[in-house]
Amino acid sequence: MPELTQSVTELIDQFAKLPGIGRKSAERLAYHVLRMHEDEAMGLAEAIRDVKQNVRYCRICYNLSEEEECSICRDLRRKKDIICVVEQPRDLMALEQSAGYDGLYHVLLGRIAPLEGIGPEQLTIDALVGRVRQGGVAEVIMATNPTIEGDGTALHISNLLAELPVRITRLARGITTGSVLEFANKEVLSDALSGRQEF
Ligand SMILES: [Zn+2]
Repeated sequence: MPELTQSVTELIDQFAKLPGIGRKSAERLAYHVLRMHEDEAMGLAEAIRDVKQNVRYCRICYNLSEEEECSICRDLRRKKDIICVVEQPRDLMALEQSAGYDGLYHVLLGRIAPLEGIGPEQLTIDALVGRVRQGGVAEVIMATNPTIEGDGTALHISNLLAELPVRITRLARGITTGSVLEFANKEVLSDALSGRQEF
């Protein structure tokens, strides 16, 4: 088999590191890039660079943002006394698209997963407790995924918040146990939010 050039091999190796991309798909993507118009290929490279240089986590809620504070935290029309706790920015996006929620969020950036060595200290739980401790928060909605790990994470947080004067609720179980928030449809998410129950 003829040797690939070093650059092509490198590109294939990089694609193969992406989730869900096997060696064959990585090769297909690399050949696609080779065939792309130069402007288009550079656009892709720049988009990757920009996202890494410009996007950071909101200093309040850890949503993705290009500013110190994300557009939701800066939005004066949002209710400041209610915080919805999600695992990932993509869960936040799923809830936003269901359009039934006008409070704030807190993104944990993961869930407690002992088997993977992910403990509470690796998440943004301290920052969440700090926000609630500051006062002015009437309700915290647990919107972690309805999985064993998501439920465990919500339980851990609710224990931490138990001593504080805040109502703790969770999404109604319209979402099937084990399913993932980001894939739930809008109606289901909207119902789960409006039908939320005491934790
Ligand atoms: Zn924010």
